[in-house]
Amino acid sequence: MITLYRAHLLWSDSPTGLREVKDGGLLVADDGVIIARGVFDELAVLHSSAVIRDLRPHWILPGLIDLHVHLPQYESVAMDGLELLPWLEAYIFPAEARFADAAVAQRAARRFFGDLLSLGTTTAVVYSTIHQEATDLAFQEAESCGIRAAIGKVMMDRNAPESLREDTETSLKQSEELIQRWHGKAHGRLSYALAPRFAPMCSPELMRGVGQLSEKHEAYIQTHLSENVEELAWVQNLFPDCANYADVYRRHGMLNRRTLLGHGIHLDDSERAMILDAGASIVHCPSSNAFLQSGVMPLRRWLEEGLSIGLGTDVAGGPSLSMWDEMAMACTVSKLRFALLGEANATVNPAEAFHLATLGAAKALSQSHRIGSLEGGMDADFIVVDPRRTDPAERLEDAADRVLSRLIYRADPRMVKATFVRGNQCFVQAS
Ligand SMILES: [Zn+2]
Repeated sequence: MITLYRAHLLWSDSPTGLREVKDGGLLVADDGVIIARGVFDELAVLHSSAVIRDLRPHWILPGLIDLHVHLPQYESVAMDGLELLPWLEAYIFPAEARFADAAVAQRAARRFFGDLLSLGTTTAVVYSTIHQEATDLAFQEAESCGIRAAIGKVMMDRNAPESLREDTETSLKQSEELIQRWHGKAHGRLSYALAPRFAPMCSPELMRGVGQLSEKHEAYIQTHLSENVEELAWVQNLFPDCANYADVYRRHGMLNRRTLLGHGIHLDDSERAMILDAGASIVHCPSSNAFLQSGVMPLRRWLEEGLSIGLGTDVAGGPSLSMWDEMAMACTVSKLRFALLGEANATVNPAEAFHLATLGAAKALSQSHRIGSLEGGMDADFIVVDPRRTDPAERLEDAADRVLSRLIYRADPRMVKATFVRGNQCFVQAS
């Protein structure tokens, strides 16, 4: 069965290129692949046997992509008052230790993925805990709820609390078992993202093993880089032979085009050159960077240098699971760099933030042929939104840039009406 969805279509095809079809059609095959996108009337004539779903006055946008989020931390969001390292000790490690219990892990995963879908996130790159079973359960939940996800078991073999420390060999072996079980499964909807937490809690042997597993299986690597000033000093102390923080990962074979580096706030010139050279990507997490008082990444500068960048909520470092909130924060903090630091041309607008959360993120995942937009041949990962929910008077605005600005700055839980991944409706808002 072929379905023709009728709505106002909005997507991004370049960093500043907001595109729309006002009375648009999105033609989706029953295998979940987009056949064509265009003017509704024209597609309706060409494909007269298609089942029509008229979604007007709602809009269709590509699904949002969260490149950095911690499943086990979701229930510990918004615990204010501490910086990164003491915050990990006070809230996060105790929460992650509870995932040794499979029942806890399963319930949390179900809630987490369900909430992501309800917010319009169709793809998430997710840290689990060190527990193999909890990670396996996270994959099972992602498989059954229909979301697209790259997930990885956290790896920590030193300087972590006793209850969350593993030996190097076990960490690598369990990760590889999970890769073999899940990487590329569900028609490529699920993939594996090796998750060495960050350099201070990973031995050189562990990091080398991660690099080798990534090469061998073409798996992603997700980790943290240059987030907090105290953390930087710790890394320098632990790795005196490395030139800087990024060099620690480079020397241990962890920088490649499938590497996603969370934060990257305090990077120097040579670190950015290394990242660019390796084809790795930076995940900008502005809410978390503000919440944990880590800093404000110079997004505009990093973009102008040609770095590949996407956005991440970094829950629970970030207090919201919503990519709408994350896009708003990316815009807001860029304005502050301009207003407070006098950084010329620092501001980032909603269209640019939207690009980072859709096609830009898809590029960081090397999946821009498949997700991030509404092109024919792509998987039908899209969301249906009601822009009237963002207007105090519930009027229907027609200008794409204004609608997008409102969706981002005034995101309302009721505005996402439905979420589709690979053509499958994974969430629908109860009316
Ligand atoms: Zn994180």
